Amino acid sequence: MNILVINCGSSSIKYQVVDPDSGEQRAAGKVERVSEMAGGHKQALAELLKSLAQHEISAVGHRVVHGGSDFTESVVIDDDVLTAIEACVPLAPLHNPANLAGIRAAMEVLPAVAQVAVFDTAFHSRMPRRSTTIAIDSDTAKEFGIRRYGFHGSSHSHVAQRAAAFLKRPISELRLISCHLGNGASACAIEYGRSVETSMGMTPLEGLVMGTRSGDVDPGVVLRLCRELGIDETDTLLNRNSGLAGISGVGNDLRDIESKAAEGHEGSRLAITVFAHQLRKYIGAYAAVMGGVDAILFTGGIGQNSVAMRQRIVQRLDFLGVQVDEDANRDCKLTAQQDVWDISGETARTRVLVIATNEELKIAQETARLLAKENHVVSEKAIPIAISARHVHLDRATMDILFGEGSELTVYKEISQPGQYASEQRVNLVGPRNRIDGVRILGPLRSKNQIEISRTDEYKLGVDAPIRGSGKVAGSAPIILEGPKGTINLKEGLICARRHIHMTPADAEHYGVSHGDEVEVAVCGGPRDLVYGDVLVRVKSSYLLEMHIDTDEANAAELSRGATGELVYEVPSVPVVATLRSRR
Ligand code: AMP
Repeated sequence: MNILVINCGSSSIKYQVVDPDSGEQRAAGKVERVSEMAGGHKQALAELLKSLAQHEISAVGHRVVHGGSDFTESVVIDDDVLTAIEACVPLAPLHNPANLAGIRAAMEVLPAVAQVAVFDTAFHSRMPRRSTTIAIDSDTAKEFGIRRYGFHGSSHSHVAQRAAAFLKRPISELRLISCHLGNGASACAIEYGRSVETSMGMTPLEGLVMGTRSGDVDPGVVLRLCRELGIDETDTLLNRNSGLAGISGVGNDLRDIESKAAEGHEGSRLAITVFAHQLRKYIGAYAAVMGGVDAILFTGGIGQNSVAMRQRIVQRLDFLGVQVDEDANRDCKLTAQQDVWDISGETARTRVLVIATNEELKIAQETARLLAKENHVVSEKAIPIAISARHVHLDRATMDILFGEGSELTVYKEISQPGQYASEQRVNLVGPRNRIDGVRILGPLRSKNQIEISRTDEYKLGVDAPIRGSGKVAGSAPIILEGPKGTINLKEGLICARRHIHMTPADAEHYGVSHGDEVEVAVCGGPRDLVYGDVLVRVKSSYLLEMHIDTDEANAAELSRGATGELVYEVPSVPVVATLRSRR
């Protein structure tokens, strides 16, 4: 299959023809000076397609920079989608109009081929509200769509997946800090496969020092500059004359800056130091946000190529378990055959990987995935849904403190998973803001404490609990537990449970899924139909088929006891072109 990937700027069109399955790149290039052509983007694309005539194009994947709050994932483009992308223009006035021009031109030139929009912002769309919220008056924020959206999503998600494959660990077990360092630069905290923080904000101007963009600036500085220079000049200054170029005075290319710095040029030395310092601050912050980090990933033109910059950034991160092997760092050369290099030293607890980004492949894969999904079917075998109220699992030592030395849990009633029971014992949860009394303990005792609450409970207690799969309590939130015989101040253990399905290997075979997969489950026919995404599949022969969600999640679909859901899955074998033609 060939997907034409288009990245349309105001004066140029970058393109690639990619096979999303093999990753093979069948054509690539750039059409320049589009705005000078009489027929603009349409003429440029028509000429481009003539030159690509030997490749049969199954679909077109468009990079769209800003999807606002409406687009949380890629979409097949129709008139409504075009209108919604248009509505995001105020959020990305430089980028979205050019992306739209490319889409419209491609729809005219290839009317029978599906067009898919893949948004830079989509990977970050499920960041928690504490990360997306900007601390200004909330009505004003809502009126103007002011919040953190994040960018470089295709790159961060691609390198995270490559890192997981390289480390031979499921992405759902990894805490990663991805550093995309190119002309534009951003860092992203990826906790168990999900972006939970990123350095670019409402626009791609916030965060790290970039080629010509300032990154973080005190808003007071912006106000002052607007008063002194006017809005347009301030805009130009912050977007085009700042960053590495602004500090060094020798341009935005780090290669030139590094050469000048070696000759003793003061501005270039300062630019390099500020760039590294700013990123190091973000890495420290993101390790704190995730309660730890398993690997730091470098990508983008600078991240992939600048040995000296990588060395400078990581050199004081040994407190995070980072240790870089200088020889490996120097020898690192990414190729099509080896797109991941491990530059960590032997004793490193936190790995440092250099990974070739491939946004075009990611866009092609997203395009193919989405089109296959358009032909989704719902499995026939219903999945029983169990609604978990807040509850507590205790370890032996904590049980001793709360209920007395050698005390035991006593069975109140059996629960659905074999061997598990609700006990008669209860504890009180005490948070900084409030307390919740009488929370039931589930038995038997476990090797680690785990306290599972809903988002509503989180607000009541005044705590931030991360979304975690069962057993993944390292670096989770602290909580005080009160029992009849004692109190304990747990440093970690409080989580908001990740929704999941328990199933046996036979069930997994029936549904065609494996342990660790993420699936979607649809709840239909009730008052509030809903498709739950990111449902983790957990397979064990002792499990009983059942999906577990918390009370907030159940309320969202107005579910009650006895509810069932249907697994939604894709039919990858459906030929994409044929399907789309039949839809039109
Ligand atoms: P990108 O936007 O990802 O294409 O990155 C482009 C930037 O990467 C250039 O402007 C350079 O600053 C930087 N870059 C590329 N190659 C090197 C290199 N060998 N050493 C240092 N910086 C490099």
